[in-house]
Amino acid sequence: TNTLFDALYQHGRANPDRRFALLPNARQLSYGDVEALSSRFATALVDLGVKPGDRVAVQVEKSIDALVLYLGTLRAGGVFLPLNTAYTPAEIDYFLTDAGPTVFVADPKRKDALTPIAKTAGATIVTLGADGTGSLANAVAAAGPGFDSVARAPEDLAAILYTSGTTGRSKGAMLNHANLLSNAEVLCETWGFTAKDELLHALPIFHTHGLFVASNTVMIAGAGLIFLPKFDPDAVFHHLPQATTMMGVPTFYTRLLADDRLNKESTAHMRLFTSGSAPLLAETHKAFEARTGQRILERYGMTETNMNTSNPYDGERRAGTVGFPLTGTDLRIADPDSGKLLPQGEIGVIEVKGPNVFAGYWQMPEKTASEFRADGFFITGDLGFIDQDGYVTIVGRGKDLVITGGYNVYPKEVELAIDALDGVVESAVIGVPHKDFGEGVVGCVVASKPLEEDAVIAALTAKLARFKQPKRIVFVDELPRNTMGKVQKNILRETYKDLLG
Ligand code: ATP
Ligand code: MG
Repeated sequence: TNTLFDALYQHGRANPDRRFALLPNARQLSYGDVEALSSRFATALVDLGVKPGDRVAVQVEKSIDALVLYLGTLRAGGVFLPLNTAYTPAEIDYFLTDAGPTVFVADPKRKDALTPIAKTAGATIVTLGADGTGSLANAVAAAGPGFDSVARAPEDLAAILYTSGTTGRSKGAMLNHANLLSNAEVLCETWGFTAKDELLHALPIFHTHGLFVASNTVMIAGAGLIFLPKFDPDAVFHHLPQATTMMGVPTFYTRLLADDRLNKESTAHMRLFTSGSAPLLAETHKAFEARTGQRILERYGMTETNMNTSNPYDGERRAGTVGFPLTGTDLRIADPDSGKLLPQGEIGVIEVKGPNVFAGYWQMPEKTASEFRADGFFITGDLGFIDQDGYVTIVGRGKDLVITGGYNVYPKEVELAIDALDGVVESAVIGVPHKDFGEGVVGCVVASKPLEEDAVIAALTAKLARFKQPKRIVFVDELPRNTMGKVQKNILRETYKDLLG
């Protein structure tokens, strides 16, 4: 057996005529088509020299072929290694050198720029365009039908996914068949996915959210995808009537809220909206409910662990929290330095253990060792607490914590106070070097109308203890975000490093 593929395809095997994907040009792919196409991809990869355990690195535009390439890689026994489409050739150089793939699948438009890089890294370069062109597309078209999936055990690697690089250089997270399968099963169960579901898919597929959370969950349920190339409100509203569920990042929801077409009628048939990858503001959660009557279900995960927690499907979805640990995942809060467990309600680092947790960072044994406790818990680096009802709240990343004059300041608390002020769209609070206090608090604010720095600081004095109050407020047009919509505080810290002198 091929642990992951066989399980993902179980429903499809029994129902090969069920539509797997509806594409914007009205093209459709059945589960049977997926089986046939992934066979051809697997054959083409084996012909290119891919052996069990070999990496197949991929940087291509989102397309259904690119998703089936993932399945073909699994079936060939390879390790799928998707790369963000925004990465430059210099960045690709780092990833290929680090991962040593046998094959590198590139966009046809980038072939010339990337060929020398692939060559240096010892990878064979082939191409796959979103329009179905490219040398890999040709090889797939020429490949014979049928492929006996290569046997893969639960602990064999299925993918290496690089983290988003929000806090520093991306690390390759090694995910095995059992990691991905266990998470697909538990999410399907937790969120009530069945073969009747149609998931509106507008996420990128180089990241854990769009690739594993969305696609694996749908496949294991035998459900369907409405597969959009990207998040475009016109396309989303056009296809929404055909969908039962949607998964999004918080920016999807703020963009939907900015659109008049979002209302009770246009969403009445929807069973579930989920959010993750970055914090969903409680305000967005409330505004979405006020407009649609739908309570967004927020969950929390990371590349290394797949999903860890989720708000309940049945039960209260609490705005500003990420819900409860998933079935099979243990979650605890510890003192970041000593590792001592903290009592309920106290803020500390979130640690998790379970079948979802990865097998380590690719070629970084020391980093891997330092991120696990002796009893096997993975130290996520996220700070949070558990309330008396068991809901987990994330207060930020350990790396974003501000320590000023010996006091801890959790940026989220200050951001919430700033965001509540009239004329503020959003904010990011950072610590920058300060000669007396070590670090001082600085608020970076996006405003919808002209605001005075002094007035903003003054408005916070009644709300926050003195050490939490920003020493400076800077106004910015927008916050720097990576492609997953995450605010890059390291860029803000670098920009304003001399602000407090
Ligand atoms: P890097 O590890 O390279 O710095 P990254 O941590 O952003 O990048 P990902 O694995 O894509 O890379 O993101 C996981 C992180 O996203 C989590 O550790 C957490 O900080 C954040 N995150 C995910 N879901 C949520 C959520 N619902 N609320 C708040 N933060 C979330
Ligand atoms: Mg991370």
